[in-house]
Amino acid sequence: MVNPAQATVPRESGMALDIRGLSHAFELGDQRLPVLDDVDLHLQPGESVGLLGPSGCGKSTLLRLVAGLEGLQHGQLLADGSAIEGPHPSRVLVFQDPTLYPWRSVWDNVALGLQARGQLKTQRPRVDETLRKVGLLEFRDAYPRQLSGGMAQRAALARALINEPRLLLLDEPLGKLDSLTRIAMQSELIRLWQQQAYSSLLVTHDVEEALLLCDRVLVFSARPARVLAELKVGRPYPRRRDDPRLLELRQHALELLGQGADW
Ligand code: ADP
Ligand code: MG
Repeated sequence: MVNPAQATVPRESGMALDIRGLSHAFELGDQRLPVLDDVDLHLQPGESVGLLGPSGCGKSTLLRLVAGLEGLQHGQLLADGSAIEGPHPSRVLVFQDPTLYPWRSVWDNVALGLQARGQLKTQRPRVDETLRKVGLLEFRDAYPRQLSGGMAQRAALARALINEPRLLLLDEPLGKLDSLTRIAMQSELIRLWQQQAYSSLLVTHDVEEALLLCDRVLVFSARPARVLAELKVGRPYPRRRDDPRLLELRQHALELLGQGADW
């Protein structure tokens, strides 16, 4: 019998992403700081790929390049086959800090993307729909200071999702949440990804989280980031934290990250 939660979800609306030979360096005074070293990654439409690596290795820089917030120096970045030349609402970045405007209600924060594109008047119902998707409809009139950490991050997700992104770039989105909220939000992220069918790149420092949420996980070296390994999870969703395959991959990832002996 087929478990509906494990059935294959159609992924037509996800973006294909091609990263080829991507290298990047920052200038620090007269010093050159190489940050990414010849990174290749192909993301299939609707795929979810996790990025693990030591702090400061270049993960956020990689996401900023894909978001079009950082100028391309070397290599190729293709979204559905076309060069990425700047930010676009089809590729949205969500940060660890929800960065909501404190003087705007939850509804007004989520409405921002539509407002910026002059679509708010005609598409108002989408704000409530998006709030419902992340379970925040009841708090539409609340202000950011009235939200818990998990709720604020849901609001930030809603603000991204209202753009109907085809690629969601998540930069340690659960990094500041307490562990119970984090576990609840991990399930939430899987549910949203399955419903909305976007492609996703998830940066996290939590090995278990990457393995629970992603189809594949890339492990990076210390700066400049090179791809050390690609771990194919190959397990249906929802996954169990104690799945032997996940535990085995977790150990492998920790060894690659130089933490094997401590776990
Ligand atoms: P990660 O997200 O993996 O922790 P980052 O991509 O944020 O790493 O940063 C990689 C390295 O690049 C760090 O050493 C950081 O200090 C440096 N860096 C990031 N952004 C800039 C910038 N705009 N100018 C100079 N150095 C930067
Ligand atoms: Mg970072």
